[in-house]
This record gives sequence, C-alpha cells and structure tokens, in this order.
Amino acid sequence: MSRQSCAGDDVSSLAVSSLCNAGDDEPPGQCTQVCTRRPTPPPAESPQWQDWRWQINRRIRRFDQLVALFPDLAEQKQLEQVIGKYPMAITPYYASLIRRADLSDPIFQMCVPQVRELLDPPFLSPDPLEEGMDMPVPGLVHRYPDRALVIATTMCSMYCRHCTRKRVAGTRESSISRRRLAQVVEYLGKHPEIHDVIISGGDPLVLPTEQIEMVLSSLRQVPSVDIIRIGTRVPVVLPQRITDELTTMLRRYHPLWINTHFNHPQEITPESIEACRKLADAGVPLGNQSVLLRGINDDAKVLERLYRGLVKMRVRPYYLYQCDLVRGVEHFRTPISKGIEIMEYLRGRLSGLAIPMFVVDAPHGGGKIPVLPTYVVSMSPTHTVIRNFEGMLVSYPEPCRFSPEDGSVPSDASAPGVWELSSGQYSRIQPAQTVRQERRDHICLAHQEQLGCA
Ligand code: SF4
Repeated sequence: MSRQSCAGDDVSSLAVSSLCNAGDDEPPGQCTQVCTRRPTPPPAESPQWQDWRWQINRRIRRFDQLVALFPDLAEQKQLEQVIGKYPMAITPYYASLIRRADLSDPIFQMCVPQVRELLDPPFLSPDPLEEGMDMPVPGLVHRYPDRALVIATTMCSMYCRHCTRKRVAGTRESSISRRRLAQVVEYLGKHPEIHDVIISGGDPLVLPTEQIEMVLSSLRQVPSVDIIRIGTRVPVVLPQRITDELTTMLRRYHPLWINTHFNHPQEITPESIEACRKLADAGVPLGNQSVLLRGINDDAKVLERLYRGLVKMRVRPYYLYQCDLVRGVEHFRTPISKGIEIMEYLRGRLSGLAIPMFVVDAPHGGGKIPVLPTYVVSMSPTHTVIRNFEGMLVSYPEPCRFSPEDGSVPSDASAPGVWELSSGQYSRIQPAQTVRQERRDHICLAHQEQLGCA
C-alpha cells in the first residue's frame, strides 16, 4: 500500500470537536473511565468503523490531513520534515482516543509527530540494538541461543513515535517474500537449538490473514521450533483487526503466544478489551510489553492502573522497557532510576502477576538486562539480610552446614559479616589477595621501621 493511497476522505470528519472528551475535568492521563465516545459516525451505526481495512485505508498519513484534524499544528511546518524522515500513520480509531489535542495527552504524544524528533544527542543511533549485525539471513535476527526473531513486514497500522525500529518501520511498507521466508526456514532447520521464534516487524497482524498463515505454516515446518510468538500493537491501535477469521486461523498454530504493547490506561477501551478477549478465548496466552515514556507513563500510579486493567483483560504485564537509545526518541527517555522507583512502588501494591520485569535492552546487542530495586541488604556465610517493600529488614538464616563427622558448624560459617562491622567487632572485611594489598605489604616491609607497621 503506497502512502498516497491512504488519502482518507473521511479524515476531515474526525473533527477536533468530535474527539473523545470523557474525563475533561481530570488531569491528563488520570481519567479512570473507559473511552466510549467516538467521532461520528458512531461505531454501532457504521459497519465501516469496525472494518479494519477501512481503518487502515483511512489512516492519517500526511501533514495536511494532520492539520485538518488538529488545526493548531498548521504553524509547525517542520513537521513535514519529521514525517518525511519518520513516517506517520494514525488509525481513525486511535485518533479517536485523544482527549486533548496537545502534548498533555498521552495518546496524542504517542501518535502525533513532534519537531523534537529531529534533535538527536550524539550517543543515539538508528539501530542501537545492532539487530542488523545479528542477522545471519535477511529478515531474521538471531541473538539469544534458543530464540530468533523474524521481521515479517515493515508496515504498521500506526507508527508509534517512540518506536525502536524507527529506521525501518513504515519507510517502505513491504512484507516478507516467499523467497526470504524460505531462507529463514532453511536457517532455522540448520539451527535446531532455536526453539522459540518471534514474528515481529513492523506489525505482522496488519498483513492479510493468508499471508500471516503463510508465515506461521512455514515456521511450523521446522520440527525444532516449539513456540511461536507474535509481537503486535494491533489490539491497541487497530483492535478491529482481531476478527473471528483471524482467530480461527491462529488456533491452528498452537502453541502460539502474543505479546502486545499497551503503554497507558487510556488505551484500554471496549474495543481493545474485546480484541484481547477474542485472542484469549482462542487459547492464545497474552503478554504486554510497555515502554517507559517521559510525560506519558513515567508515573507509578498511571502504570499501576494500566497493569490492573491488563490483568483483568487476561493480559499479563511482561516487560517494562527502558526507552532504547534510538534516534528520534530522546524526548521520551527517562533516567533508569525512574524505572527503578516505579518498580519499587509497584512491588507490594500489585500481585506478582501484574508486575512486569523492568529491562534495559543493552546497546551493542547486549540483550535484555533486568534492573531491580535492591532487596538484598547484606550477605554473610550464615545470614542474608533482605528488605521488603515497606522497608522492613529481615534476617534470613542460610542452611546450616553441619560437619558430617561430629555435627559441628564449620569455622567459615562464623566468618565476620556486616553485623560484625556494624557492631564494631571488626573494622574491615576485605578480599584476601588483592594487588593493592600486595603492594602495601611490600611497602610496609621496606619501610617497617619508619612507618611502624610491622
Ligand atoms: S507498532 Fe511496533 S513496530 Fe510499529 S511503530 Fe509501533 S512500536 Fe514500532
């Protein structure tokens, strides 16, 4: 589909006055209501609104379409340059979730380009995860020993402004060819250590059902592939795509998992709830990967509401990602300490089922690194002191290592720990052999008399 074909005559009908204004009295992102207002015509009276292809064909793709919807942006001519560099696409459905047409609105921020996307500090790069360097065949990323990722398309229904793959998403809306897919299958066949394949993109669920099935059935030809996962934002930005036809097809390829990408409670709507219900009823376990985004969800209470909402929809919060070092997203990045602070808040307030793992996807292809608040306060051979979410400290006795001969406790079990330091019994505990200590010993011997350190 070319950019020009998405002219969208109906875009102008999505006037600002018709945007959802539920929760106008509440601060941005604080509305606890599920959005029910929609641009005219309302969904119940418009079969077209429920048609995912209609939604795709009516995406907002050009600057003039954006200005027709948000006239206040008319002065920001530089946005044309941003859109030229990083494509824009907003489904009418997702646009209808905007409550305020400015940067105080999280939905607006996630879909409407900003001039700040052109401001890049030097440490950002187009591909910070170096996926291109872990691609043994085009379209297949092999980084972890037992997993691989297939890029099935470069197209998405919406181009998230914080996307990690901004370098490819939407620059050319294409999908994997049969020839490429055959190369991927051949590689997987030669690497039986790969048991888990993630179909990603772009967004694979924007492809026609037959094409998704072509990818799934090809991967199922590889006997060593146990699990197939699909990464998609469709339940969030184009929930109409989760049709009965699609779920009927997906059922044929179990075990199949889906990870979706909700970032804010304002994205939980009757439509997205229904999309997740259909997938869960089709036997697909659902996980969610959020990205921590400045001014959007870098607030523990916002994420608490999001995660509570997701578990109610049978979607398990899986990862909370630190924003990657990608060009064009600097304005969304938060300090890592913010994520740690949020995880600290969530622990104890939410069940473990609703708490994702906070991870930094390390630059240079280092992979996902979990980052946690510190709960281990100190360790000794006999006891470990740990902290709970309230700040309570408890001592956990390590297993007793009785001597098999006489039942006595070995001497190393009574080696000094932090307690002995705190109580003043010892003034230091240090490793036995360090280079610095050896140097000191040497100096000491040489100057024994003068220094008096015999
Ligand atoms: S749907 Fe995913 S791949 Fe597509 S723009 Fe959004 S984050 Fe990027």
